[in-house]
Amino acid sequence: MTRVVLSIGSNVGDRLTRLQSVVDALGDSVRAVSPIYETDAWGGVEQGPFLNAVLIADDPDRDCHDWLRWGQELEQAADRVRGQRWGPRTLDVDIVTCHDGDTEVRSATAELTLPHPYAHLRAFVLMPWLVADPAATLTVADTTRPISLWLEDLDPAERSGVRLTDLTLHTEPAAD
Ligand code: AMP
Repeated sequence: MTRVVLSIGSNVGDRLTRLQSVVDALGDSVRAVSPIYETDAWGGVEQGPFLNAVLIADDPDRDCHDWLRWGQELEQAADRVRGQRWGPRTLDVDIVTCHDGDTEVRSATAELTLPHPYAHLRAFVLMPWLVADPAATLTVADTTRPISLWLEDLDPAERSGVRLTDLTLHTEPAAD
């Protein structure tokens, strides 16, 4: 059984529909869905703002690499074209953390880095994650702390750039 924290974002086209497509693909695997936030794009490339959310999901059969491939298939289905670094994207699906049973999986390959190396630096990850799982912790360089503390460390401008929206993601009620 693996449990993942997913950071999802979109800043091209129908952004809400793109994010909802990830929740729909998770189906019964979804355990928590954050509110949706709007975030000005990072990295100095001129582009529209992102919608961002965090999802928590588990699956008895997938391992952490399966989750990565699953996210990449969704990105491709959203017509994502890999172009500019930090550039606009129809859909971005990042694996923030992955637990296998009670063990947090650590990985340091270019294909899969876990925990995600930028998670503790990004308010658009930490703010929705804190709402989806207020007790969550994140390990950075062998230091494990509540994500609320990682968030406090960020520049206030980074936090204020992440704006709560009244948009919501919907989970399907479980079928009988
Ligand atoms: P990006 O364009 O920022 O979505 O980065 C995608 C690339 O990052 C892919 O080649 C992935 O294999 C790699 N990658 C490494 N670690 C992760 C992770 N934790 N989540 C998603 N992609 C990752």
